[in-house]
Amino acid sequence: MANSRYGYVRAYEQPDILLPNTYIVVRIDGRGFTKLTARYNFVKPNDVRALHLMNAAAEAVMKELPDLVLAYGQSDEYSFVFPKDCQLFERRASKLTTTIVSTFTANYVFAWSTYFPDTPLTPPLPSFDGRAVCYPSEVNLRDYLSWRQVDCHINNLFNTTFWALVQKGGMERRAAEEELAGTVAADKNEILFSRFGINYNNEPEIFKKGSVLYRDFSPASTQPSITPAKPVEPSPLPLLSHPQPKKLLPRPMSQPLQSTYPSLFQD
Ligand code: ATP
Ligand code: ATP
Ligand code: MG
Ligand code: MG
Ligand code: MG
Ligand code: MG
Repeated sequence: MANSRYGYVRAYEQPDILLPNTYIVVRIDGRGFTKLTARYNFVKPNDVRALHLMNAAAEAVMKELPDLVLAYGQSDEYSFVFPKDCQLFERRASKLTTTIVSTFTANYVFAWSTYFPDTPLTPPLPSFDGRAVCYPSEVNLRDYLSWRQVDCHINNLFNTTFWALVQKGGMERRAAEEELAGTVAADKNEILFSRFGINYNNEPEIFKKGSVLYRDFSPASTQPSITPAKPVEPSPLPLLSHPQPKKLLPRPMSQPLQSTYPSLFQD
């Protein structure tokens, strides 16, 4: 039927091939998770079960899409990084994005009962949106990841303080919001410490920094493997500067998975 009289409609499809020789980042984000977290009684401010579920879904995505080299997750979002020379789906944005979104969503729903055994899912089921963005340089890519990590840090400091005021301080949510309006990070740290004895630095790393998955290209390993999600190493602040990124070694075509691919989070 390819050459039928109807075939001309294919010309209506618009090309969406992403810029060559750029890193492709696909970020997915949970749809309406403010409501969903309330419906399933997520622990506030951070339900660790939900973070581990996000990490499990992301790990499945990386296993199903071997081109992916790195992923960074926090809250209800995950960013997946394709290398510059990626040719998957001819670099078509819609194909890359929708494949990642649907793979992630399917695995998230599939693994839900493992992490929430006492809280079965009922419709409307969790869903995610997605987008693809190209970054031309290692510095741009690193800054992108730093941007998401700063977002994690800022939101987590706010949420930790907000929920301390509500849960430990007995404040109404409205009052807690008003209390925090116009405060800077130092104020929130002070509220946490002086009123609740909480040293923000001692909060779990996974809450403060998010999670990183990366494919291990170390020469010693013959099989490409995925290193399980772990909190990123450096504190958020050094990532705000512009350190010289490590040179990413080109991967030889014959042994695409053998050469080193250092973590972008290393200083
Ligand atoms: P949208 O569909 O526009 O993304 P949203 O409600 O999902 O809307 P986000 O900005 O993505 O808005 O916010 C995600 C919400 O989910 C935040 O309120 C965040 O606190 C909450 N959330 C995400 N992960 C967790 C978690 N592990 N524990 C508790 N709350 C979480
Ligand atoms: P869309 O609105 O289309 O869903 P988006 O969520 O990526 O796209 P915005 O809604 O504009 O875009 O949200 C911007 C995000 O970036 C927010 O999560 C915000 O916290 C974060 N952000 C913006 N500026 C800064 C900054 N200077 N430092 C840290 N985080 C920032
Ligand atoms: Mg969104
Ligand atoms: Mg969301
Ligand atoms: Mg979000
Ligand atoms: Mg098909």
